[in-house]
Amino acid sequence: MRYVQTDTQSDPKSETFPSTARQKDLSRLLVSELLEMGVSDAHLDEYGYVYATLPSNTDKNVPVICFCSHVDTAPDCSGAGVKPILHSAYDGSDIVLPDDPAQVISTKDHPYLLQKKGEDIITASGTTLLGADDKAGLAVIMDMVNYLRLHPEIKHGTIKILFTPDEEVGRGVDKVDLQKLGAAFAYTLDGGERGSLEDENFSADGVTVTFYGISAHPGTAKDKLVNALKVAAYFLDSLPKDELSPETTEDRYGFVHPLHIEGIAEKVSVQFIIRDFVTAKLVAYENYLRDKMETALEKFPGARAEFVVKEQYRNMKEVLDQHPAVVAYAHEAMERAGIQPVTAGIRGGTDGSRLSFMGLPCPNIFTGEMALHGKHEYVSVQDMQKSMQTLVHLLMVWEEKLL
Ligand SMILES: [Zn+2]
Repeated sequence: MRYVQTDTQSDPKSETFPSTARQKDLSRLLVSELLEMGVSDAHLDEYGYVYATLPSNTDKNVPVICFCSHVDTAPDCSGAGVKPILHSAYDGSDIVLPDDPAQVISTKDHPYLLQKKGEDIITASGTTLLGADDKAGLAVIMDMVNYLRLHPEIKHGTIKILFTPDEEVGRGVDKVDLQKLGAAFAYTLDGGERGSLEDENFSADGVTVTFYGISAHPGTAKDKLVNALKVAAYFLDSLPKDELSPETTEDRYGFVHPLHIEGIAEKVSVQFIIRDFVTAKLVAYENYLRDKMETALEKFPGARAEFVVKEQYRNMKEVLDQHPAVVAYAHEAMERAGIQPVTAGIRGGTDGSRLSFMGLPCPNIFTGEMALHGKHEYVSVQDMQKSMQTLVHLLMVWEEKLL
């Protein structure tokens, strides 16, 4: 509740790093709290990253494990002047937010909330987001540091802590120094429901299809003009509406999604994002789009087109499968904490996937943060506690498995 009161909204339009200086306000607070807890090397770097080390207390040569979460909140909704409210022993009814009674967190829209009956729920007050994404992750990691300080009997290898800026604007790992971090494996604390363990994300390409028409003065254009706008319209209309689209798919299904168009009669470009958990399927989707493009060209003799594919990011499972212990130990840790783990895929990209491909395999563990990026955001205190217990068990599993 202390962390959410510092405004740390990031800004996609900014060209500085971090994108907003206010993010460092919270990072400085985290450093001072780490120092107070005896984590003597905790520090903030010029880019807004917090690095800290908890030394090993075992003779075994346990791989260095990093726990990571992000300090920024989403640009989608104000994060200024957040007034967190603790709803102790939540009674299972809809939660009306006092500063704007039109804002109601209903159990109909949020079925998970109903499962939280009897737990302690934190919400915002109705005019801002809460910022549980990802301050719940920060709180879980900080609580783990405190727990380990109070329980020196728990054996663990070297632990690295990393707090990043600018995750919400997709730049969270741009300036991270993995050499300096020196971790072998990492876990982001940025997942939702209790037990959630995300070890997969979409593989992603961007495609730009550019249509070229033939321009002519419209007064004398007969049999000369070819209008690229009409070619593009024909092409877009030929795409399926009931499949391969984000608005009609979920779970494991991928899609081909047009998200930007611009142009004039002479030239139109259409940008797509292509997504699937299976990287090989991206090529199939791209060939499908290319066929649709060719069909459109046949309908409009004289028109030409260009098809450009750009790789964006890849499914981190390709990396994690080479290090099965990373996910398997997280599974075991959750079971020891009395939680049923549920492995799931993220229908998008994550900092963890980028870190995985930068050489730091990094699945995502739950914190309890829910209804992200809006005024209805909430988190259960008991979910955060279970997340913290999972981390402690995870450290013990890593230590015990080594002979
Ligand atoms: Zn997040």
